[in-house]
This record gives sequence, C-alpha cells and structure tokens, in this order.
Amino acid sequence: MVRFTVLASGSKGNSTVVSGGRTRILVDAGLSCRELFKRMRLAGEEPETLDAIIITHEHQDHINGLSVTARKLGIPVYFTDGTHRAWMRWLTPRRQMTYAQWLERCRKQAAERQAEADAALAEPESEADESDLVADCELTASALNQAVGAGSRAEASAVEPAAAGAALQKDPTWLPAVEYFQAGQPFEIGDIAISPFTIPHDAADPVGFVFKAEGVRMAFATDLGYIPPNVKAQLKGVDLLLLESNHDLEMLRDGPYPWSVKQRVLSRVGHLSNEAAAAFLENEYDGQAAYVILAHLSESNNLPELARVTAERALNGRASLLANRLLLAAQHEALSSIYF
Ligand SMILES: [Zn+2]
Ligand SMILES: [Zn+2]
Repeated sequence: MVRFTVLASGSKGNSTVVSGGRTRILVDAGLSCRELFKRMRLAGEEPETLDAIIITHEHQDHINGLSVTARKLGIPVYFTDGTHRAWMRWLTPRRQMTYAQWLERCRKQAAERQAEADAALAEPESEADESDLVADCELTASALNQAVGAGSRAEASAVEPAAAGAALQKDPTWLPAVEYFQAGQPFEIGDIAISPFTIPHDAADPVGFVFKAEGVRMAFATDLGYIPPNVKAQLKGVDLLLLESNHDLEMLRDGPYPWSVKQRVLSRVGHLSNEAAAAFLENEYDGQAAYVILAHLSESNNLPELARVTAERALNGRASLLANRLLLAAQHEALSSIYF
C-alpha cells in the first residue's frame, strides 16, 4: 500500500511521510521532534517505523527537528553533500560570537535592509515588520547558543578518551548515519525509488523529488522561484503532484514584509506564487495526477481560498482535468493521508 501524509507545510515547518512496500520515509523534519511524533500518531503513522529522513534543503523550516528526530529513531539522514555542509555550518557558528553580539548583528542587518528599502523607494515605505526579523534572529540565536554550548562541552570532554563516545553524541552535527545523493541521480531507499532534481531556490543545493513505490509516482516541488524546464520534465506522468503555491502576488506586494524580503520571495530563487502555480497547471501540466496538493502557503501573504480558487480556475479551464482532486496542505495540522 502506498501512502502519502503531509504532516505540515509552510514557513513554520515542513514534513511529509511517504510509505510504499515495507519502507517509510520522512521528507524534511521542519517540526520539533515532539510535534512531529504527535502529528504522525494522530495521522495513524508510527514514528518508530520510519526507515530514513530525506532533506530537500537546509532552511530552518525544513530541518528544525532533524537532529533530535534522527537521533531518537536512530535512522539515517539523506542529504546532498552541499545541503549537509550548509546544515553543519548552521549548527557550528563562529564560536567567539556571544548571543548579544549575534542579536546586535541581526538588528544591524535588519536596519541596513530597511535603509536600503527606504532609499530605493520613491514613496515612503509602510511600517516595516522588523520585529519579525528580530524574532527570527532570536530564535536562531538561541538555537545556535545551545549548539555552541554543546560544541564546547564536546571539545572539553574529548580530551578524556573514555568520554569520547559521549562527546561525539554532544556534537550538534552528529547523526546516526548520513547518506549522500545527487540531483539528477536516482537511487533507492528500501522499496521506494527516488529521483532528486535541482530546484531554483536560495539554499546551498536545494532539490525536489519524485518518489516511486508500487508503480505510483509522487512529485514533491516546493521552495522554488520558478519552474524551469528540468522541473517541468520531472512533473510529467505523476499520480500525485505536491506543488508550492506560496503567495498571492497582490497580498505580498501590499503585505507587511520589508521590501528586501519581498524581493527575495519574488526572485527567481524565492517562492512560487499562486499565479505561477496556476499558469503551470493551465498551460503545461499534463493532467495525469489523481491528486494535486497546493503546499507551502504563506500565512502572511496568502489565503487558502485564494490559492484554491486560483488553481481551480486554472484546472477548470481544462475540462479534461476535472478528475484531478485539488487539496491544500496546511501549517497547523496534517492533511488526511492519501492512499493508492
Ligand atoms: Zn520552506
Ligand atoms: Zn526554503
């Protein structure tokens, strides 16, 4: 039996379980381990039966609960080499920086971005949501601080050979096992075949996936600035299509984000808008999927109904695609499992 369960989708955390044959894979670990397990159990998935975790890219909303979850379950994590390195850099920052210095740097960067935005705009910018940026930094800084603490403890105890094993466990980058894959090179985890493909996004080496199990093909494409030809090719002939529908262009334009963040989201390495997803569905999608799932919806710059209506309009324009069931992945609760 093939089963596809989106546990969470959006900028506060992304995780999906793909099951086929005797294999279960967690795609991204963007929720805390506790929340991840809670949602899995609610959805009728047993966390203890997961065989592996596979990561699309190192942004926090995709890796937040990674170490704890992988360690707790003792399962391997599949990365591209670039993503693994970026993740390790994130966990082992320059150690001379204190929390206060880190926070100050974040504030300075936010102020610089704001000044740049003010200068670039002819009309005065609306009140920028700087608090969001600072809050982001605080979150990151406390995570980093913990990591720094763990790191230095590991270094101190590594002096004593007897404590070396324990020290290894305290290394924030320690994982039970790491496996590498490369975009464009299909591989297998147990009974599930995986085709990773490059996506345009501002991360070290971001990828999307097509999973194939028991003859069912499921495509996974979020966090991409646009849909280049290599991605279009991957999205052909799939039975399930999970596609980003991140923001409504007008809402983003008029919304609370500082200008620099808006630019980032809109860029070729940002996120896919409702309009861009709809244009793909209307003009290039082959209509093969039984399910189309809109994912990674922004809570600030989108509304589920807007995303749905925009995609529906695109699909309805093509009478032959009425069989496609349109679903929306949510941030705060799991989507009911899809079975094949
Ligand atoms: Zn993301
Ligand atoms: Zn991302």
